[in-house]
Amino acid sequence: MKIAVLALQGAFLEHEDILHKLGADCIELRKKADLKESFDGLILPGGESTAQGKLLRELDMFRPLQEKIRDGLPVLATCAGLILLAEKSSNDERAYFQTLPVTVRRNAYGRQLGSFHTVQDFGGMKHIPMTFIRAPYIESAREDVEISAKVDGNIVGVRYRNQLAISFHPELDTDRRIHQYFLSFCKA
Ligand code: GLN
Repeated sequence: MKIAVLALQGAFLEHEDILHKLGADCIELRKKADLKESFDGLILPGGESTAQGKLLRELDMFRPLQEKIRDGLPVLATCAGLILLAEKSSNDERAYFQTLPVTVRRNAYGRQLGSFHTVQDFGGMKHIPMTFIRAPYIESAREDVEISAKVDGNIVGVRYRNQLAISFHPELDTDRRIHQYFLSFCKA
């Protein structure tokens, strides 16, 4: 099993570390030529969505990746990655891949309360640790999007076909169940 990790900016190394521990191979996507390799899944890491979006376009990686996601490539998107997948944002006119029919709110927890940690259920998984860093949440989702987790009434995790998108950073905690869950549907 080979997973590609978008490695332009942000927290990509932490994802690679977990993938290795779970026995998956990784490749880093840094330039267009890296997209020629075959892979079974894609991770869009946290970081700064505006910087990542800009680099994706400058490096001419945007369209080919968008096409792969549309064609059903399994994707795990965390934090900024969720913003890249979202159809739109309620507080920013920028939009990127637009493959996930949800509206996100960027930096939704404000500047003061920018980072926090909590534990909540995620889909069928109990007590998942969740670290939020200047995170977005999902304000609304189309009815065919499966809601996996909510914190204080706000949606922080969804699954839609091949896309698993979450507001928090599972790669910064030691619990590996989110990555295991993702790998299980890369296999399927
Ligand atoms: N605030 C970032 C953004 O809007 C996301 C933060 C993160 O990925 N931890 O892109």
